Amino acid sequence: MKNTRQIKVGDRFLGGDAPILVQSMCNTDTADINSTVTQINELAAQGCDIIRVAVPDFDAANALKEIKKNISIPLVADIHFDYRLAVESAKNGADKIRINPGNIGGEDKLREVIAACKDRNIPVRVGVNSGSLDRELLNKYGNTPRALAESAMRSVSLLCDRGFEDICISIKSSSVFKTVKTYRLVSEMCDFPLHLGVTEAGGEEMGTIKSAAAFGALLVDGIGDTLRVSLTDDPVKEVVAAKKILKALDLHTSGVNIISCPTCGRTRVDLIPLAAHIEKRLCGVKTKLNVAVMGCAVNGPGEAREADIGIACGKGEGLIFKHGEILYKVPENELADKLIEEIEKMTGEKI
Ligand code: SF4
Repeated sequence: MKNTRQIKVGDRFLGGDAPILVQSMCNTDTADINSTVTQINELAAQGCDIIRVAVPDFDAANALKEIKKNISIPLVADIHFDYRLAVESAKNGADKIRINPGNIGGEDKLREVIAACKDRNIPVRVGVNSGSLDRELLNKYGNTPRALAESAMRSVSLLCDRGFEDICISIKSSSVFKTVKTYRLVSEMCDFPLHLGVTEAGGEEMGTIKSAAAFGALLVDGIGDTLRVSLTDDPVKEVVAAKKILKALDLHTSGVNIISCPTCGRTRVDLIPLAAHIEKRLCGVKTKLNVAVMGCAVNGPGEAREADIGIACGKGEGLIFKHGEILYKVPENELADKLIEEIEKMTGEKI
């Protein structure tokens, strides 16, 4: 990964050599403390590392104090326009403030926000999106990745020029191409940690695909320190999707990645339900593990050589293998149980 500067958000490190953190955003009314806390704890249980809440008014800013007491993951206050809400959120325990420094109303106000964050060692996420590009940049570059990247860097300079560098950056566009190109440019222009996201990506299926396409292009190049999959759906699905994308890129830090074959004319077992059954049983495993579920022994263990452990099915029986080496043969109806047994031995976890 690109070695970005590291910042601290609550008790989590973001950037540098830290793992890529998964974020989501509550869709509850922030001032409704019970619902917000319940949702945050549900998201944390699914693997959300950092949670953001909208702070549109003082009721929301004041609620942060009580919310903080009842959650275990860092809390980010999302502010638009009103600097007083940023200052109040910092006072009430927010672990990070998300603002666009260009639209909070000028010098004095910006300095107050900076002072409030500095006092409490809270970073700022500079959020820029294609809808809020300034006219000069639009005229100069059009609505292009270059304009977005320059806009982000201008916003960052507003903070850096005033001695504040505890920053991470997000640039959002609903276009996958524009997102990828803009982040690549920003990554060349600075070494602040980057928060990846495709905004207004759509519902669960297309939203996940768009995010995976953009994050994949960036993360294989080492760009990106934290991410949010934005979905028009339950935020829990955002976290689940983000985790899956990280697994697909082998950038996850825990949990099972299933490697299963697509089945073909050689398959002699009902592999599809078997793979689904195994995936379900392993969904709570914490250890980072690649588990293969292959339809035949001809290509199975060989094709799944990168797997830590797996099964290769045959006619009425199958093989259990570990790091490409065959351990033993078992009857088909015992395959799943034996595999789980071996994984329990390997991980020391009770499944
Ligand atoms: S592992 Fe075997 S059954 Fe599965 S797709 Fe490959 S050849 Fe076919």
